[in-house]
Amino acid sequence: IVSCRLDHDSAHELADRIRQTFYRPFELGAGEVFVTVSIGIAMTDHQGSTGASVLIQEADTAMYRSKAAGRNMVTMFDHSMRESIARRVELERMLRRALEHGDIQAWYQPIVSITSGRVKGFEALARWEVDGWMISPAEFIPVAEESGLIIPLGNHVLDEACRHLAWLRRNLADTQDLYMSVNLSPRQLWAGDIVETVVDALRRYELPGETLSLEITEGAMMDDSVATIAAMTALRSLGVRLTVDDFGTGYSSLSYLKRFPVSMVKIDKSFVDGLGQHESDSSIVAAIVAMSSALGLDLVAEGVETMEQARHLVALGCDQVQGYLYGPAAPSTVVPELLMPMALGDTEWAARGRRCGTTSRRR
Ligand code: C2E
Ligand code: CA
Ligand code: CA
Repeated sequence: IVSCRLDHDSAHELADRIRQTFYRPFELGAGEVFVTVSIGIAMTDHQGSTGASVLIQEADTAMYRSKAAGRNMVTMFDHSMRESIARRVELERMLRRALEHGDIQAWYQPIVSITSGRVKGFEALARWEVDGWMISPAEFIPVAEESGLIIPLGNHVLDEACRHLAWLRRNLADTQDLYMSVNLSPRQLWAGDIVETVVDALRRYELPGETLSLEITEGAMMDDSVATIAAMTALRSLGVRLTVDDFGTGYSSLSYLKRFPVSMVKIDKSFVDGLGQHESDSSIVAAIVAMSSALGLDLVAEGVETMEQARHLVALGCDQVQGYLYGPAAPSTVVPELLMPMALGDTEWAARGRRCGTTSRRR
């Protein structure tokens, strides 16, 4: 945070100069590292009528606008953003209460083998219903991340997901090989007690480590501190799978695949979208398939919405898929139905996708 006496134009100019300073790479032991900065500016009048804490909050909001607009940008706070601050503060208050009252649920999206038609596992996704309306994770997860509430939220989803998987294993046939994939925020990874939390959850529900996968984005893997690598290695030694989420969207450096004991990658939806339409997306997916196979990593493609995409994925050698074609995330009560064997005709998949769709509305 830089505070200075400047007019509007010179504040912008200064921020731009700061941003451009970061164009040069940093020389670190591991090689050259490129970073970008996202800057937010807030201003007060000569009397300083906006207090310091409000100014910081306004600059913070403008900075998040820079991040949301693609990073590496300068944004000046304007009063239309005030409403979004009020909404964020209100959401944080509501989220805190929802967590205390157990109102956040885990819903489950199937991960399917295209060739066998069998459900291999589920991704647990946080869902929050308020007065009959679903608040989108795209709205509340960033608030949870910023406020630190992502730690209790993530732990709650982990606990629910393990509890539900244990229930499925106890009550339904052919469920011993199912795995549960849970999203892990970088904050949880850096909190220092993630290994204990996971060990506790596995013990509580008597689950083998192999039945749990933790999804981590490439960004979180950029932190290769001794503590992070040690935590990930300890989790892996429990048999827990570590999955790189949104693969291909973060950093082009793949060296983390060597440093971290990763077991699975998830091809991001943005590459799946263009299959059959853009040659470059097929080439990227083919390259990811080849890389995963060379490194002995499992592979899942996410965001599969059409039969055409599914056919391309099979042709390119990617078998595990997840997406609306096979069904969106559904509440735990629907999961046993999703496990029923099912023929693989186009219409049946589509019908199943519709059936396990939810009736809840989204705000
Ligand atoms: P993600 O981990 O990449 O999860 C996949 C998102 O894509 C989910 O959105 C899912 O509903 C959606 N999706 C799945 N198939 C399709 C498809 O065929 N088409 C389209 N358009 N979308 C599809 P959702 O549930 O809204 O979650 C958004 C993001 O919020 C997640 O992205 C994840 O980053 C975060 N999130 C959700 N639950 C948790 C959680 O428990 N912990 C943490 N740390 N993050 C979570
Ligand atoms: Ca995920
Ligand atoms: Ca993802």
